[in-house]
Amino acid sequence: MRKRTAVISLISLLLASTLLSGCSAGNGSGEVYSDTAFMLDTVVSVKIYGVPEDEARAAVDAAFSEIAFCEDLLSSDISGNGIDRLERNAGSAYTELDGGAVYVLEKAIEYAELTSGAFDPTVGPVVALWNIRNGSGYVPTEEERAAAAALVDYSKVLFDGDGRVKLADAGMSVNLGAIAKGYIADRVKNLLSGMGIEHAVISLGGNVLAFGGKPDGSDFIIGIQDPFGPTGEIVATVAVRDMSVVSSGDYERYFEQDGVRYHHIMDPFTGAPADSGLSGVTILSEKSIDGDALSTAVFVLGRNEGLELIESLDGVECVLIGSGGERTVSSGLKDNIVFR
Ligand code: AMP
Ligand code: MG
Repeated sequence: MRKRTAVISLISLLLASTLLSGCSAGNGSGEVYSDTAFMLDTVVSVKIYGVPEDEARAAVDAAFSEIAFCEDLLSSDISGNGIDRLERNAGSAYTELDGGAVYVLEKAIEYAELTSGAFDPTVGPVVALWNIRNGSGYVPTEEERAAAAALVDYSKVLFDGDGRVKLADAGMSVNLGAIAKGYIADRVKNLLSGMGIEHAVISLGGNVLAFGGKPDGSDFIIGIQDPFGPTGEIVATVAVRDMSVVSSGDYERYFEQDGVRYHHIMDPFTGAPADSGLSGVTILSEKSIDGDALSTAVFVLGRNEGLELIESLDGVECVLIGSGGERTVSSGLKDNIVFR
């Protein structure tokens, strides 16, 4: 059960009283309504700006319902959902999937092709083997790793073009954890837009999607997590509107054993946590599904290949933090990032 707290912040009240005294602030109300829940195995929050509280509350409730619906669709942990059926039919039959799940899988395969398999949604057997939760996991043997990695192959996800998908070999499984949150954030934005909302911040763990700017015309300021600091400590800020800011890192989910940290972003070729010299990757892009896939992919690719990929894509920027703290910023972002 999710726990929720709704607040109209003191700042909003102050803004509202400023409005009463005649200052202009965007569309007129200056209210911020925010709600937080534990979903998608992380903390999610939706902040709605500039509409009356009852409208904002209805919008946030609809957003949480949409997130729950998508989680059922895309999770690898729900018995009987499309992903589960797909895996049960691996090596034998096509499975009919919801259009949303097919779309996410197709996008995931696009990114697997673009990154020659650094990003690969069929990494499921490797993810399941390590079973990394915060604080726990299993360190497999070489043989176990090799066996799981041998099952990873995005070219063996077959689409019949009519909503049906098949994993070619028995034992294959998919994990959409590296792209689902981005897709869901985009869907929530569309939903809010359909409800007449124009200013919002959707935050699904390390995925932040700024919808519009603030009602007063200014940008949203989004913090980038410091990979070496406690949760909430930021290393830099970016000013954005209508932009997704997605981070992936070795600090997000990991466990330690015998003094070694094992994190959750896997190198599909070795079947072990990616050791590319990066600790944190943040991607700015218009759509969050792209940013999500790319943040994971660039983490696996490492600094040089990752930066080259991002520079080759229109409308996509990145901030890379190396394991020793080195910072790399893509060319289009250099003037719009403030390091702390
Ligand atoms: P993210 O936090 O978006 O970087 O996604 C990380 C999650 O994606 C992991 O917890 C795994 O479930 C899954 N994953 C791990 N490695 C990969 C990979 N190389 N390609 C695609 N998905 C991955
Ligand atoms: Mg990702």
